[in-house]
Amino acid sequence: MDNFIEEILFTHEEIVKKCKELGEKITKDYQDKCPILIGLLKGCVPFMAELIKHIKCDMEIDFMKASSYQGICSTGTVTITKDTSTSVAGRHVIIVEDIVDSGLTLQQVTNLLRDRKATSIEVVVLLDKPAGRTIKQFKPKYVGFTIPPKFVVGFGLDYNELYRNLDYVGVLKKSVYDK
Ligand code: 5GP
Repeated sequence: MDNFIEEILFTHEEIVKKCKELGEKITKDYQDKCPILIGLLKGCVPFMAELIKHIKCDMEIDFMKASSYQGICSTGTVTITKDTSTSVAGRHVIIVEDIVDSGLTLQQVTNLLRDRKATSIEVVVLLDKPAGRTIKQFKPKYVGFTIPPKFVVGFGLDYNELYRNLDYVGVLKKSVYDK
């Protein structure tokens, strides 16, 4: 195990298996709807790349960047720093995110896409950390794994831009950020 990791929560094999299950559900739900999957950069990249391999209906991809985190804490405000290049009006949208914690980022992005007249908006997340939820009513439709309130890295998730390249998800040792 990498020396900065306290515990591995999900191995690469477990993540791939979960992406296949999620992809199969989405395929079933979106036949003939040609959804746009909008990935929230940068954390979505490995998850979205794996997930879309298992979606077997017509679909498109696009990206947005919305940030609310610095270090290990949410800043509480969400800023859109990169927008989609496709119009979402009249389209079925699935937002792809690495993790939902407070729910603030996804709620604000959902509201924005609703204002832009998307026909439907659902969310797929690899990880759900329900203990951190401040937007109580926010429930993503498609969830890979539910995790305890710990700070995790890997498979797209970073700590100050590092560790996104790990092919597993693990808990970061406190000694790395408690300096
Ligand atoms: P929310 O707006 O739901 O509080 O936070 C969503 C964003 O916070 C995620 O896209 C992710 O960037 C970051 N985040 C939340 N929990 C974690 C975590 O345990 N590890 C990492 N690396 N990022 C997290």
